[in-house]
Amino acid sequence: MNFGSFHTSPQACRQIAGLMDAGRFPHAVLLESGTAEERKKLARLIAQALVCTAPGERPCGKCTACQKACAQAHPDILEAEGGEAARSFHIETVRQVREDVSILPNEALSKVYLLLNAQSMSPQAQNALLKVLEEPPAYAVFLLTCDSKTKMLATILSRVITVTLDAPAQELTAAAGKKEQKINDLSEQMARAVAATSEFPLLSLTGKLEKDKELTAACLARMTLLFREAIRISCGMESADETARYLAGALTQERLLAAIEALDALNLSILHNANQNLLITRLCSTLRRAVGK
Ligand SMILES: [Zn+2]
Repeated sequence: MNFGSFHTSPQACRQIAGLMDAGRFPHAVLLESGTAEERKKLARLIAQALVCTAPGERPCGKCTACQKACAQAHPDILEAEGGEAARSFHIETVRQVREDVSILPNEALSKVYLLLNAQSMSPQAQNALLKVLEEPPAYAVFLLTCDSKTKMLATILSRVITVTLDAPAQELTAAAGKKEQKINDLSEQMARAVAATSEFPLLSLTGKLEKDKELTAACLARMTLLFREAIRISCGMESADETARYLAGALTQERLLAAIEALDALNLSILHNANQNLLITRLCSTLRRAVGK
């Protein structure tokens, strides 16, 4: 399989190349995730490869079939696209596909249907599609694209091979931002819980660290900064950090220093790959002891 200028989602490309090389390409493939443009580009590339007549790596980009495919003029590649709005992929379009699929291909060995933005199909439209996917003619190939496979009926998913493209960069940034927020919130809550009268708040918060070593390390590092800030405040410096101000009010400078030392020691245990469960148990007792609770 020749992916030409399609450079993203290497994992998905490997999977598709594998399906192509297996000889018989599956009759239905769902491309999900990535951007709408990437999914369309990849679906068109696969369609082109399926009609390409070159003996070697496909699509060759040179044969008549490839040229027609590139010009969106190949009679055996049929494209239907839903819009952004829900249900904008009409059931009527699906019904037309159902009727058309019984007609033999014109030129190629395969007849390829690109059903783009399938997430905009209503459940009724998806059910209509299901009937074609259940017993397709041997020459028919369906390439569905959607933003997330979670929007497709389980019955559809059971009849397609799903290929997941890499999440768009924007989503990755959003996910990173969400994680950052989680670290911030959890660290602030845990820092306050260290100074609480009862040990239960801290014990229950550490439960949220679960088995996530990376999250634990990030929270410990953030807590260290909060306690440092609290010491600055107790030395008379100004600070807008509410959690640090709370800590400075609740604990003596000596206790704040002891907490930082305890946090440093815990961080060191993470570096030495300490058992996560033991570490969390130690985290509570060590920190509470450090602040004299
Ligand atoms: Zn070709």
